[in-house]
Amino acid sequence: MTVNVDTLGKAAKHGFFLHVKCTRCGKESTFFARDLLVFYVPDCPLDRINFKCERCDTKNTEVMAFQVCRDRSNRKQLVWRLVEM
Ligand SMILES: [Zn+2]
Repeated sequence: MTVNVDTLGKAAKHGFFLHVKCTRCGKESTFFARDLLVFYVPDCPLDRINFKCERCDTKNTEVMAFQVCRDRSNRKQLVWRLVEM
């Protein structure tokens, strides 16, 4: 099944993760799409989400949605979760 994931709502519904890469320094982070629904409406296109690089402070990032296939990959993935403060 191929899913066209172009909004945050679709990514969250299908349990996708978002891979964010800073285009300036190359720092990479992974977020759970569902977590971001706290800040963004489900209709928000993935490329409209504002991520800011914690290392160089730029907002120039690339966002890519991906799904983890547990059967094929045993690699551990570090995911950033949002916490309430
Ligand atoms: Zn950076």
